[in-house]
Amino acid sequence: MQFFDVIVVGAGPAGGHCARLLAKAGYQVLLVEQHDDFYKNNFSSAASPLETLQQYDLPESVVSRYWKNIEICSTNIHRSWQAKQPLGVVFDFAKLREFLAEDVTKNGGVVWLGCRYIKYLIEDGKTTVFLQKKGSEIFSIQTKLLVDATGYSRAVMYPNKKDKPKFFKGIGIEYLIKVDEKTYQKYSDSLVFFLGYKWSPQGYSWIFPMSNYQLKVGTAILEGQHKFIQKTKPIKEYIHQILQDYIQIENYNIINIHGSILDYSPGLNDIYYKDQVIAIGDTVSTVNFLGGEGIRYAMKSAEVAEQYIKEYLEHNQQNFQKYEAELKQHFSKRWNWSEQISRKVYLEYSDARIDQGVSFLKYLSLEDIIDILFYYQFEKYTKGLKALILRKINTFLKKVHLA
Ligand SMILES: Cc1cc2nc3c(=O)[nH]c(=O)nc-3n(C[C@H](O)[C@H](O)[C@H](O)COP(=O)(O)OP(=O)(O)OC[C@H]3O[C@@H](n4cnc5c(N)ncnc54)[C@H](O)[C@@H]3O)c2cc1C
Repeated sequence: MQFFDVIVVGAGPAGGHCARLLAKAGYQVLLVEQHDDFYKNNFSSAASPLETLQQYDLPESVVSRYWKNIEICSTNIHRSWQAKQPLGVVFDFAKLREFLAEDVTKNGGVVWLGCRYIKYLIEDGKTTVFLQKKGSEIFSIQTKLLVDATGYSRAVMYPNKKDKPKFFKGIGIEYLIKVDEKTYQKYSDSLVFFLGYKWSPQGYSWIFPMSNYQLKVGTAILEGQHKFIQKTKPIKEYIHQILQDYIQIENYNIINIHGSILDYSPGLNDIYYKDQVIAIGDTVSTVNFLGGEGIRYAMKSAEVAEQYIKEYLEHNQQNFQKYEAELKQHFSKRWNWSEQISRKVYLEYSDARIDQGVSFLKYLSLEDIIDILFYYQFEKYTKGLKALILRKINTFLKKVHLA
């Protein structure tokens, strides 16, 4: 029977990066992905800060567009910040995952696309993994360690869907459209985020730029009953509203409509390991639920996991409880805050309160905004409010003094 040191299931950012690191370290790695090419499940909006490129050793060829401006809109308020230099990227999500998979092969690993994981069995201490290539019979191979990188589906950790606990669920749909030059220039350097009942009740919406006159326009809605909104409209209607009322465009070509799910475990209570299986990426809720940003965190989990996987392969030492602890320490504080804030903003706040929150952002610098949006430093928002109160007190004192 064919044997690999490690089998990684799922060639998203987590699985691709993990397999790439292990192949570079000289292990016999197999990366399996159910889709037969990366353009089929090209679901992610894929915005990230600039540092992601260097941090994860990614080439410019996986970048679709650089961004340097931020805009935030609610129903009645619009705020914007500009920079002179690029602050981040919008990846071509298909190219990013393709690059990672190619790097696995380049470093001596094996990649099977169009190959679905079915189940695993442990017999005599050996892990047998059952896979199925498109149109073929189920077959089995053996490994020392199996990695669940199947994203929200958690296909290895939860073989039976009915055993899955209740997750905090978000559903996102995005249009990839081609627009005229004038419209493109307006959005080509900016990430535009929407909050509030008009654009995205119970969630958020966005416009992100891609290369070649393309824009990504999307909406994500959280599952659950909103305190004030009885029922949301179908997600696509909010995307159409942005196209009509915000971009004000009638002639555009829809290149692709895609979407996916985020299933986040409240309080980070996922299964991180069991038997000879370890889970990485969205399978252990590395995505930030407030912003739906998950690519670099999925890759971060792959890097943390790599150390423990190597230890296991070299010394047969299973220290995966330390992997869980390290990952939780890295994420828990800010991820728990993000979870609480997203419940409040997306499921409890009135539209007026969201407008007020966005209005206060004018007291914050671009640096503060980036720290809040991409590094979840919510204390920066309070700092802005404190500055506003101090300014008001000073103005009041000056008036009293003059009188
Ligand atoms: C609409 C939307 C917009 C987003 N926008 C952004 C953004 O702007 N920036 C950002 O950083 N993040 C964004 N994210 C989040 C980000 O895309 C995810 O957090 C990230 O892709 C998680 O990586 P992963 O490798 O853990 O899982 P995934 O990318 O989900 O990869 C899992 C892979 O496993 C495969 N798989 C599943 N089951 C099996 C099986 N049985 N056999 C074989 N293969 C299997 C899947 O096909 C998939 O390719 C967005 C998400 C959504 C849904």
